Amino acid sequence: MSDCIFCNIAGGKRSARILHEDDDCMAFEDVNPQAPVHFLVIPKKHIETVLDGDENILGKLLYTASRIAESKDLGKDGFRTVVNCRRHAGQSVDHLHVHVMGGRWFKWPPG
Ligand code: AMP
Repeated sequence: MSDCIFCNIAGGKRSARILHEDDDCMAFEDVNPQAPVHFLVIPKKHIETVLDGDENILGKLLYTASRIAESKDLGKDGFRTVVNCRRHAGQSVDHLHVHVMGGRWFKWPPG
């Protein structure tokens, strides 16, 4: 989709700090990081939400997210993965993405 920010990153039409790329997915740093490490893993194909992905791509995204987190030394202390879906979760980019955040403590439940 030509007006989708993440499709443009996946297609090389918009710049990003790329961490990983393969046939199915791509990972890059979040432009507005909420933690010392904050990156996004996306399918290259335009998939709007987690409800629209099949088991192969959903598995691939989480697997890739975990491997990159490990490569950034987040394995020992851990990290958070977040997938926002639609309005109530505050999804602001309508192209499926897995947030990976690490390098600080995340209180749960929040608040
Ligand atoms: P969400 O609210 O779950 O849809 O998250 C969208 C995320 O995309 C936010 O954390 C933004 O900071 C991030 N974001 C938006 N535009 C870009 C961009 N051009 N490059 C990297 N991250 C972006």
